[in-house]
Amino acid sequence: MTPPLSRRALLSSGGALAASAFLPASLAAPAEGRKAAGTGSAKLDFRLLPLKLTHAWTLSRNTSTEKRNGLLTLSAEGVTGYGEAAANVRYGQSFESAEKAFARVAKAVEGLSPWEHLAWLERAEKEAGIDSEVVAALDMALWDWKGKKLGTPVHRLLGIPTGRMAVTTYSIGIDTADAMKAKVKEATAYPHLKVKVGLPDDEANVAAIRSVTDKPIRVDANEGWKSAEEAIRKIAWLKTMGIEFVEQPLPSSMNAETRKVKAVAGLPLVADESVLHPSDVAALAGTFDGINVKLAKCGGLTRAYEMAALGRALGFKLMLGCMIESSLGIAAAVAVAPLYDWLDLDGNLLISNDPFKGLSIQDGVWALPSGPGLGVVPV
Ligand code: MG
Repeated sequence: MTPPLSRRALLSSGGALAASAFLPASLAAPAEGRKAAGTGSAKLDFRLLPLKLTHAWTLSRNTSTEKRNGLLTLSAEGVTGYGEAAANVRYGQSFESAEKAFARVAKAVEGLSPWEHLAWLERAEKEAGIDSEVVAALDMALWDWKGKKLGTPVHRLLGIPTGRMAVTTYSIGIDTADAMKAKVKEATAYPHLKVKVGLPDDEANVAAIRSVTDKPIRVDANEGWKSAEEAIRKIAWLKTMGIEFVEQPLPSSMNAETRKVKAVAGLPLVADESVLHPSDVAALAGTFDGINVKLAKCGGLTRAYEMAALGRALGFKLMLGCMIESSLGIAAAVAVAPLYDWLDLDGNLLISNDPFKGLSIQDGVWALPSGPGLGVVPV
């Protein structure tokens, strides 16, 4: 590993590295983890943003203790915007695949002005392939840049209503029964909880958490149940535990079986892995009651804004979720969160080395930031 680039080196490098001069030393990364590109008047940079999880994170697919996200920096006209690429192994993404996608995207947007936001998005979507998290990072950076340039918060530029932010859930990671009970106690500041299911010991895990709290609980099976019969049986039991709704009971390849579950389930079903982009929404009518939109899946807050309108028109309940990501990615989601009925925006609450600051939460309710752009700055 090479040592981090010094601030002086960044300032003197000019050209494609100019955007990095706006970063504090704490965000400087080894040269080997970076890609940079010029886009006419704008400069782009992409580097590793390593996040450490406070507790090991277990869901039906895997367990992890760290997350390797990417930080995209866009600099033009003396202003820098930031975006976060939260790669998800479920969709074949990694930091390395994001770096490659970034290189293609950066070439495709060369020469565009950052004011041509939708032209950047269209070209990025065409080039990014499966790496929608890179499109999301670019979209966030464009909004952050635009907001800072105009001295205005992004939510205000979008015309987002104030005063109607839903309470976000706080995730209790799967662990031993005693450890989960301890995590529930740590979560006293959060009035709504989310629990991962789709594992062999679902009943024991949910019962352990329910034994120490009366708070509303939502569950996420992450495609972990393998048949309609198993899902129907588990959901019937979960209903007796006072669960509010169930995310993605079956694999995204089993929508026909999911329709059978929906017909008899006494709880709302919310699509997550079955809904990535705006183009997926219409086909899910009759299969799910709600859709869980995430910026990293759909390609940023512009598309999340569009999906809210589309989902509403089709009669879905609207949920806005996140990956494990820093306050940067969460701030981008918070900017459009008032358009959504249910929020699951806790990625930054689950890490111990948040590289951005500026967001605030009270009793599980995120405040729309008052600062320009996305309202967060590097620590
Ligand atoms: Mg989910």
